[in-house]
Amino acid sequence: MPEIIGEYIDRLCTVEMRPQGMPRGKIHRLYDAARRRQAGRPLTLLAAERLRGAVKAGDAVIFATGAGGPPWMPAGETDGPVGVAALARALVLGLGARPVFVTESQSLEALAATVAAAGLSVVSPEIAAARTGAAVVLEYSKDDREAQAQASKLLEQFRPAALVASEKLAPNAKGEIHSVRGVNVTREHAKIQHLFQLATQRGIPSIGIADGGNEVGCGLIYEDTRTIMEYGARCQCPCGDGMATTLTTDVLVVASVSNYGAYGVSAMLGFLLGDPDLVHDPDTHYRMLEANVREGASDGMYGRPIMKEDGISVEVGQGLVRALREMVAIGLRTVNRPF
Ligand SMILES: [Zn+2]
Repeated sequence: MPEIIGEYIDRLCTVEMRPQGMPRGKIHRLYDAARRRQAGRPLTLLAAERLRGAVKAGDAVIFATGAGGPPWMPAGETDGPVGVAALARALVLGLGARPVFVTESQSLEALAATVAAAGLSVVSPEIAAARTGAAVVLEYSKDDREAQAQASKLLEQFRPAALVASEKLAPNAKGEIHSVRGVNVTREHAKIQHLFQLATQRGIPSIGIADGGNEVGCGLIYEDTRTIMEYGARCQCPCGDGMATTLTTDVLVVASVSNYGAYGVSAMLGFLLGDPDLVHDPDTHYRMLEANVREGASDGMYGRPIMKEDGISVEVGQGLVRALREMVAIGLRTVNRPF
């Protein structure tokens, strides 16, 4: 039964809506590649199963996000923060997790505001350890050496049961980080690869949620991304190696918008745990996106602080979470139809 719900949650979260001039007709191909490489099972189901299996009450879970920086996105992107905040809320309510968020300096305040709007208190690590329903939001370094040291420090300090990345840009084989259009944005982004690589070495499970092939986790579909995406194998910067990342996670979820993938994993977790409320409601969705935008986060398609996720209006996002909540509620119900 989870396979049936998972199939349709995946479908709902992979309906592509992109304007001309942006990569179109790509999501179903990236999705198919990710699914082929993960035993053919629904991707949101794989992620939800892994999280349910790994996270016990009181465990820390590290959530990484961050795409975009100056000049076009001075406080980062709306795709990313809203998704990780929503999924963290699901892990808090469903599994009793203690979320720790990491992002680059420019996105810190916008992410913290979004997490608070999701209904989680943003507090210091000391206070977070002493209560539930709270989260920690930390800056992750853009400096390679600092980022390396920070990786082991974070894993020691919080001993996370799992790592989740959504819409977190990651480097190619030459260590360069690119936008989906192959523009080099290495300088503006956290060197998060050190955290995920160290976690993998230590056997800590990791989930990547992505929509372009240049985000944490897409190393699993590295060759596919290089073939499918226009700038996958050739970028617009002197490195010449393309935007496809080599950074892998244990599970990769591909969605039409990374946020949508995170809502899908929340829904799947809600089904596994018998609670449709693990998907946030449409009003909360509005408040989260509004809080993110008010702190300056930009829509990734237009590079302006507007109420959209990757160019898709807040109303569609609200409709999606409403549909996911109902899909889970209906899927949990038994009907004996006598006619
Ligand atoms: Zn390059």
